Amino acid sequence: MTGLRLYNTLSHRVEPLAPLAPPRVTMYMCGPTVWSYAHVGNFRTFLFGDVLRRYLAHAGYDVFVVMNLTDVDDRIIKAAATAGVSVREFTARFTAAFFEDRDFLRIRPADVYTRATEYIEPMIALVEQLLARGLAYRGDDGSVYYAVGSFPTYGRLSRLDARELKTGARVASDEYAKEDAQDFALWKAASPTDEAVGAAWEAPFGRGRPGWHLECSAMALTELRRRFGVATLDIHAGGVDLIFPHHENEIAQSEGATGQPFARCWLHGEFLTMAGTKMSKRFGNTLTVRDLREEQVDPAAFRMVVLSTHYRQQLSYSDEALAAAVEGVRRLGEFRRRLAGAASGAGHPPPAAAELDGGFRAAMDNDLGTPQALAAVFTFVRQANRALDAGAWTPEAAGAALRVFDAVLDVLDVLPADRAPDAELAAWVARRLEERQIARKAGDFARADAIRDELAARGIELEDAPDGTRWRRRG
Ligand SMILES: [Zn+2]
Repeated sequence: MTGLRLYNTLSHRVEPLAPLAPPRVTMYMCGPTVWSYAHVGNFRTFLFGDVLRRYLAHAGYDVFVVMNLTDVDDRIIKAAATAGVSVREFTARFTAAFFEDRDFLRIRPADVYTRATEYIEPMIALVEQLLARGLAYRGDDGSVYYAVGSFPTYGRLSRLDARELKTGARVASDEYAKEDAQDFALWKAASPTDEAVGAAWEAPFGRGRPGWHLECSAMALTELRRRFGVATLDIHAGGVDLIFPHHENEIAQSEGATGQPFARCWLHGEFLTMAGTKMSKRFGNTLTVRDLREEQVDPAAFRMVVLSTHYRQQLSYSDEALAAAVEGVRRLGEFRRRLAGAASGAGHPPPAAAELDGGFRAAMDNDLGTPQALAAVFTFVRQANRALDAGAWTPEAAGAALRVFDAVLDVLDVLPADRAPDAELAAWVARRLEERQIARKAGDFARADAIRDELAARGIELEDAPDGTRWRRRG
């Protein structure tokens, strides 16, 4: 395994990762609200999660990742009502866009994506449990609220004292049905607008819809119980803006209902700020992954920009930072071609490769030190180039070095986009998908299934969507 140490927001300390049942590591990451295109700041957080899960796998853990898709909330309902469509119709387009953006940035898919609207039943059950335990009450407006005052450890994660919590809640509050300003809605009574866009469900405590905080608790607990029979996550991750109130409320709901710790380790990624980057024309001052694609930014370069700053530091995104990353990515691609050309078989790794392996692990074990990990990669490139110049490596030594290099790059994934094997694979998959499409149109589903199996055998997973079939390599 590994000596991985991570900064736990709950303890305010860097501490060893201690999963409940190693080698399994369960991880929940708060995903996007699918009401518009996610911006690069959101994807910075998702990329941090991607590198974390890849490193955990590299270190020998069996990682299980859940990410939610919030497909019902105030903003979605408002936008769907304006557009005159149901929330389901409204969110389908942005859910598809999110998956496309994720694949573009080479973020490995979560094991499960939980859509909030598909977990209404467990959400209702959770509210009932909280009502039964006296931690929730029905307000005069028909909504159900969490009684924050009855949960003694409320505020532990965000370390806000009771006075600050109350002040914050009062400022944000425009609801008068609550007994206390800091209480938050678990279940919101259905309004005519909710009904119009298909965002209302029957419940024993009144027709309505879930609050955002409730969604994450119910989905995480459902997946944990269903798959592993536990109620505690090893890792819960998200952006720093979610610490309060979202994650604080998730803890109050989950622990209030189960009496067990909700997550052993809470990880939070910092913001991305824009410095010296021209803003997107279409979306005001936010830059989306769509914009990156239109500008033909190499996803590897974007990954390198993100990984060049530690996840707990604010990342200043700029055209200069991107240009430097483009150059770094180009050098890595050129180097890999050279090393692969010199390699044959695999013998004992030369000292420089052993140093890369050790340096990479040491950097990543230290709270996911990706800037140091990248530095170790570039040090290795310089040393290896010198060794190759001098003819100091046998083909077997170069082969061993290539293996170490590839294993490290499999975690960071910052090689340029034009890797030949991937292009070949993509062309092959495209041909198979075309054939499968023809078989399906002809009603030959046995043939279509056989092609799916053939793809699965090569590690390709398919996802059928209204606008076509997407594929990805199993991560
Ligand atoms: Zn969440």
